[in-house]
Amino acid sequence: MDFDLNDWDDAAIRAERQKARQLRQSQWWKRRIAKGVCHYCKRATSPAALTMDHLVPLARGGRSTKGNLVPCCKECNNKKRQLLPMEWAEYISSF
Ligand SMILES: [Zn+2]
Repeated sequence: MDFDLNDWDDAAIRAERQKARQLRQSQWWKRRIAKGVCHYCKRATSPAALTMDHLVPLARGGRSTKGNLVPCCKECNNKKRQLLPMEWAEYISSF
């Protein structure tokens, strides 16, 4: 059987997503969002509105570790998805 790198990546990313889901239920994460602050823009955001974001995206080799997971408001989340990496770097350096 041929070894398909893309299939392996997909499986690894699925496993990391699963890990992130579990961490989202943890006391560690509940304490993180209880502060109610977005990691990127530092704006006060209600804990319910904070999403979990990977600093280094899974698709780029990031992992679901506590050091790579940060609370992120919806606006930053959307921006991160829409902007090019360079534009994103500029956006977060503006805060
Ligand atoms: Zn934000």
